[in-house]
Amino acid sequence: MPNPLGANPMTKPPFDTHEQDIIIVGGGMVGGVLAHALSLEGWRVTILEAAEPGASVSFDHRLTALSDASWRYLDALNLVDQTTACAAQAINEVRVVNASNFGMTRITRANNNGVALGQVIANRAIGAAIERAEQAQPNAVAIAKTGSVQRLQPARYISHQVQGERTERTSVQVLFDFHGQTHQLSARLIIAADGAASAVRAASNKTVGTKAYGQTAIVCTAKPAQPHHGIAFECFTKSGPLAVLPAPAGRVSLVWVNRDPDITALMALDDAAYAAKLDAVFRRRLGGFTELAPRHAYPLALITLDDLIAERLVILGNAAHALHPVAGQGFNLCLRDVRDLVDALRSDRGAAVDPGDAQRLARYVDGRRDDYRRTIGLTDRLVRGFSLDIPGAGAIRGALLSLTDGLAPIKNRLVRLTRGI
Ligand SMILES: Cc1cc2nc3c(=O)[nH]c(=O)nc-3n(C[C@H](O)[C@H](O)[C@H](O)COP(=O)(O)OP(=O)(O)OC[C@H]3O[C@@H](n4cnc5c(N)ncnc54)[C@H](O)[C@@H]3O)c2cc1C
Repeated sequence: MPNPLGANPMTKPPFDTHEQDIIIVGGGMVGGVLAHALSLEGWRVTILEAAEPGASVSFDHRLTALSDASWRYLDALNLVDQTTACAAQAINEVRVVNASNFGMTRITRANNNGVALGQVIANRAIGAAIERAEQAQPNAVAIAKTGSVQRLQPARYISHQVQGERTERTSVQVLFDFHGQTHQLSARLIIAADGAASAVRAASNKTVGTKAYGQTAIVCTAKPAQPHHGIAFECFTKSGPLAVLPAPAGRVSLVWVNRDPDITALMALDDAAYAAKLDAVFRRRLGGFTELAPRHAYPLALITLDDLIAERLVILGNAAHALHPVAGQGFNLCLRDVRDLVDALRSDRGAAVDPGDAQRLARYVDGRRDDYRRTIGLTDRLVRGFSLDIPGAGAIRGALLSLTDGLAPIKNRLVRLTRGI
């Protein structure tokens, strides 16, 4: 009988072809952590990752600031082994400052019961932790009763289709290209974790909200002249925010947001000229920067999605919401998606659960709404509010920051955002 999805049924695929509980499209930061978390709960998961091993856009040159809550969640998933812990730098204090030097708010360990506010870690170190976890698991084919992660890479999603009536026995057939050949695999649930340009989301005809900020982040690491003491700076300028994050080995991660028309010229500067320009904005708070790593540019847009589910489909991570990096909230928000979805699919008293159960998925989405509204709303307001370029805007920013330090309710919201709760 001809295969309805067009794959060649004569070729024996080089992977476990049994029906999976869950197929995750995208094995980056979010898909990787999610697959591991689901496997710990006993689910059989297959990841389809389009990039060659070591080439995912997720695990590039960036470092990520993780809130204390996110760090503890990764630890609870056994992803913080000694190697990961050594690759991280604790954040002891966050200073939100105005470029003009006037106005500052400060969040310290004291605001977090004396423990670090979070950690800064290279995306590649997170990728390596996920890889170690996947390699440590029992063979997915041999031990069918335990949870497992099968990673197919490079495997590019092509399409998916729900088969059967709307009953517990329906499944979703996923068609994908694996090493240049078209294959299909079925599962009870497909999860889109394929990033801001999600192909699964596009195939599901979801309405996407896109707002370009007209800004681009230039990212690199550098060596500061003075020790960073674990202090993270968020510095607001009229062209956009500059984040100077404490990184391991005494280095810092520099995330400098500027208006799009200025990016080509900034990228063309040699390292010394770029460091001098950035340091002038930063007011030499760490005495200057040397040993710059290559710079990478990230155009910024807010991407939102109102409808996160469909029949046997969930969309999460950057595929559901891509944020401006101003407050370092993107991946932290994604991790709360992961945590809540894993909770929603958890079995009650050992009873069998259909992972594509529509009511469970609807409960998951309902539970995420408040967090989305708060985190996306606050991030967007910070960008717009602090990027004003009108006469006197610097003074307004400074006054706002000074006020924030004195106004408990506003500061408490910032503290909660920083701690990730
Ligand atoms: C400059 C910058 C700095 C940031 N800093 C922070 C920070 O400090 N703290 C924080 O919390 N967040 C931060 N973020 C946000 C964070 O990087 C993202 O939230 C996170 O990377 C989202 O991960 P993801 O896995 O959802 O998407 P992605 O990282 O985009 O990964 C998607 C994966 O899907 C794969 N894929 C794509 N299409 C297909 C397909 N058709 N088939 C199969 N696979 C596919 C890709 O190869 C990739 O591996 C920052 C973002 C930027 C741009």
